[in-house]
Amino acid sequence: MKFAIRDDDTCYFTDPADLERVYHDVWDQVPVCFATVPFAIGYERAGIPREHWHDDEAFPLERNSALTAFLKSLVLRHRATIALHGYTHQDYPDGFEFQAAPDLDRRVHDGLKYLRETLPAMKISIFVPPHNAMSKRGLAAVGAAGLNILGSFLSFRPSMRPWDHMTPANWLRISQFRRSTSRSKRDRLIYPHVLRYADHAEFGCHSLIPGTTVEELTRGFDEARHAGGDFCLATHYWEVDEAMKRVLLTFLEYAARYREVRFVAAEELFG
Ligand SMILES: [Zn+2]
Repeated sequence: MKFAIRDDDTCYFTDPADLERVYHDVWDQVPVCFATVPFAIGYERAGIPREHWHDDEAFPLERNSALTAFLKSLVLRHRATIALHGYTHQDYPDGFEFQAAPDLDRRVHDGLKYLRETLPAMKISIFVPPHNAMSKRGLAAVGAAGLNILGSFLSFRPSMRPWDHMTPANWLRISQFRRSTSRSKRDRLIYPHVLRYADHAEFGCHSLIPGTTVEELTRGFDEARHAGGDFCLATHYWEVDEAMKRVLLTFLEYAARYREVRFVAAEELFG
């Protein structure tokens, strides 16, 4: 059973000390996939200075040279991998970036090129949608670039995605899993296996956010384990306080007790 960790929102506004604070005693055991924003535009959240919440200025990652040097050293020491997390991560009046931005193909292409040039040691193969939200157009743009998607998809809505010859079988798999776990259409579901499509693959993550309990995570983990599946935990370093860190460490200890668990980089989930 593969077990990976993904952490979102590393960008120009990230202080390397914050990543160190959260993961210094984690990344030697589990490498962390940092979903990174190449040209961050500020919005209202902890860790982004208030003066940039509404200024619409795009900040290239490399302007934070302490961060890029730090990420390179993490990658070289196999403590981290890098995924693409949107282009600017900006919110639009009618949706999140990968639902509402007009030029999604360009954003994927340019964002990927930029991250590959800025952090050359890293082979980037994963896309994480900002706010876990993607339109049909967003999915098509990311698939066309050949990137796999790590999301926190709770459902599989055929109307919300482009169709290819693999889609009906995936729909069937999800439906069977839903039935075998006695879930209704409205119940939360994180499918514990990779779903492969014609041009990419997708895997859903379990979120660790303020208020998430160890019990919720172990329940999700046990369900994936019983189904012969894999597991990925997704969180945001900027909201990990002492209480969340305790949940993270307790949960990792729980998972490590199972002999079949192998801690891997998120990229290996798709291998
Ligand atoms: Zn994000």
